[in-house]
Amino acid sequence: MLGTKGEFCGEEVIAEFERLTRDAATVQRETLRRILHENAAVEYLQRVGLAGRTDPDAFRACVPLATHDDLEPYIRRIADGDSSPVLTAKPITSISLSSGTTQGKRKYLPFNDELFKLTMHVYRTSFAFRNRAFPVDDDGKALQFVYGSQQFTTKGGLTATTATTNLYRNEEYKAATRDMQLPCCSPDEVIFGPDFAESLYCHLLCGLLSAGEVRTVFSMFGHNLVLALETFERVWEELCGDIRRGAPSPTRVTDPAVRRAVSALLAAPNPKLADEVARKCSRLSSSNWHGVIPALWPNAKYVHTIVTGSMEHYVKKLRHYAGGLPLVAMDYGASEGMIGANVEPEIPPESATFTVLPNIAYFEFIPVKSSDGADTSYAEAEPVGLTEVTVGEHYEVVMTTFAGLYRYRMGDVVKVVGFYHSTPKLKFVCRGKLMLSINIDKNTEQDVQLAIDSTANKILAAESLEVLEYTSHADLSSNPGHYVVFWELNADANDDVLQSCCDELDRSFVDAGYVSSRKARAIGPLELRVLKPGTFQKVLKRSLSLGAPVNQFKLPRCMARSNTNVLQILCGNAMKVFFSTAYE
Ligand code: AMP
Repeated sequence: MLGTKGEFCGEEVIAEFERLTRDAATVQRETLRRILHENAAVEYLQRVGLAGRTDPDAFRACVPLATHDDLEPYIRRIADGDSSPVLTAKPITSISLSSGTTQGKRKYLPFNDELFKLTMHVYRTSFAFRNRAFPVDDDGKALQFVYGSQQFTTKGGLTATTATTNLYRNEEYKAATRDMQLPCCSPDEVIFGPDFAESLYCHLLCGLLSAGEVRTVFSMFGHNLVLALETFERVWEELCGDIRRGAPSPTRVTDPAVRRAVSALLAAPNPKLADEVARKCSRLSSSNWHGVIPALWPNAKYVHTIVTGSMEHYVKKLRHYAGGLPLVAMDYGASEGMIGANVEPEIPPESATFTVLPNIAYFEFIPVKSSDGADTSYAEAEPVGLTEVTVGEHYEVVMTTFAGLYRYRMGDVVKVVGFYHSTPKLKFVCRGKLMLSINIDKNTEQDVQLAIDSTANKILAAESLEVLEYTSHADLSSNPGHYVVFWELNADANDDVLQSCCDELDRSFVDAGYVSSRKARAIGPLELRVLKPGTFQKVLKRSLSLGAPVNQFKLPRCMARSNTNVLQILCGNAMKVFFSTAYE
């Protein structure tokens, strides 16, 4: 979608999006036909007896719904070097590793050139809408808190790394994004540096050096941006010292390649800039860093990051840092493939929706709840097509992709909130597997977030207390089992306040299954564990030390039992413990 002079032509991209979404049903049929035609001879489709048919009816009749566990043996064979057409006719060029934050284990997923092109297509689409709403000059820079992830070579010789690193590594990435992404303030050496803390420090330093040129501030997940700004609060004096001296701190920046790249940018002592930053920071620190982003980067137009789902907790903090700058919700996708673009960037994060692009994959949706809120049998409900979904209903997303996933259950639950022409607009609800459930109760990550919000508004706000981080767990080690909420607060709270919080959390789970089980004592009193400051930092560090990519880190708001390492850290760092008296 380049204009005549080779530049990005947003209106053409938008016109194509309009055309694709007007008759999404036809585009979906054609997308399925293309996927099945191209891959007619692959082992997986041969085995299920599709015999070259490409219509939706035959597809649904022959191909079973699949989870990652079902596909794992096939993906494993590809990773181990089987070059026969196992899942796709065209080669799988690398393996994407999921974050592993859901179940404590990283999933292997196939990645190929088609997936790269389609991801770029989604990025281009959302950029066209974003740039129409918030135009930025071409000569600026982007302050991006992005981090390349470690990679390794599988037995069969494929590179395995995160999906985002697979994108960055693609030879065409720079060319594909040149017209829709401003150059990053930091050099590649910083992005791909070996140490996360060092790269973060350098991103801040490079951002300050380009202060006037920064037009956008970005991180993949909102958590990373909060982490970056919290770090800034602690290290700004050191950063000013580096700028004043014209050399990066010898203790903070130690990797030779990173030092060389950053030293080249610093070049000479700049006491004028150091004084200016220090003056601003002294003022900002006395207002608890409110509006730090526009104060330091006065020409930034917006902040762009994932602020939905488990990231919604950070919206308040990000708004605080962003002052009046708009927070623009980033698109919805996964290592498996992209799902929807944010084409209404002006909408606040709490109401952000993702419009499904009907040409990027074949989508089905398994109904999760009936409209009166009562659960239908989840596994037995028949999936419906992209254009057959109903506004107001919840669904699990199922994808068939150009990279060899067939009727693959994503595990994510979304709510259909409307249509863009004939394609649905989705609100991300939660990761379906992450749930608190002991008996007949079911509470999702979103329900836990609502309970935390309600307690924060009713009790903590009056005490000037804030929940910095939280998660929860269904503890079945005692009988009856009970919910445990772990949280870290910004300051000490007295025991009466914390007891009231514990009771309020228990009352805030309004799911009928929970309430009746609590009344019947089939679920025990909710337990609140107040954690020592820095506990969630330990969780992050532990995940990073096991190779989890910082770009993708999303703390599960419901901790699965399989996440034993994280649960050990949480349980080992409780300062105070309360049990609810709400149902006594
Ligand atoms: P990963 O497989 O590690 O790439 O993580 C992908 C998962 O992150 C998705 O399946 C979602 O659960 C979550 N996710 C991705 N994009 C968003 C978004 N915009 N809002 C909320 N959650 C998201």
